[in-house]
Amino acid sequence: MKIIAIGRNYTAHIAELNNERPSSPVIFMKPDTAVLRNNAPFYYPDFSKDIHFEVEILLKINKEGKYIDEKFAHKYYDEIGIGIDFTARDLQSKCKEKGLPWEIAKGFNGSAPISQFLPKSNFDLQNLDFSLNQNGQQKQKGNTSLMLYTFDQIIAYVSQFFTLKKGDIIFTGTPAGVGPIVVGDKLEAYIEEEKLLEVEIK
Ligand code: MG
Repeated sequence: MKIIAIGRNYTAHIAELNNERPSSPVIFMKPDTAVLRNNAPFYYPDFSKDIHFEVEILLKINKEGKYIDEKFAHKYYDEIGIGIDFTARDLQSKCKEKGLPWEIAKGFNGSAPISQFLPKSNFDLQNLDFSLNQNGQQKQKGNTSLMLYTFDQIIAYVSQFFTLKKGDIIFTGTPAGVGPIVVGDKLEAYIEEEKLLEVEIK
């Protein structure tokens, strides 16, 4: 499976990192070795001193497709989840300065904790609250109505370049409030009122 992630999909987060508003979705990928399942802990790596959390809604692709038309995109996922796009902000800033790819800042081991997946029919996908707590304090709160690109637009765009396969996961972008983690932190991610993911930083 592969992980495709969307950057700069929420206006307030674009502003907090002084990024430009994109004219098409910003895409990057993480390898399958980035995935953490079953609330496994995250081990803070030596190569960064500034790892940030970014909570994001996830889509799980349910069948193969490419050049998917936006109006059929909803047929390619029937479950959603929540995940954290861990980002080594110090490495990412260096890569950005030099105009280099971000992979080492985004795709390292354990950089993609993911929850279980739930049927999308349980939710109002156009108006879905999600949030992240750090040590019991809410740090990020998003609503999917604030996305620049909808789930279906993301699938249509991404599938032009990459054939989507069953089991692939799409990270759909983070709202404002991203911040650093330290060893000993406990992160909790929620869709609506339901806690679906916990990650301890070790
Ligand atoms: Mg992100």
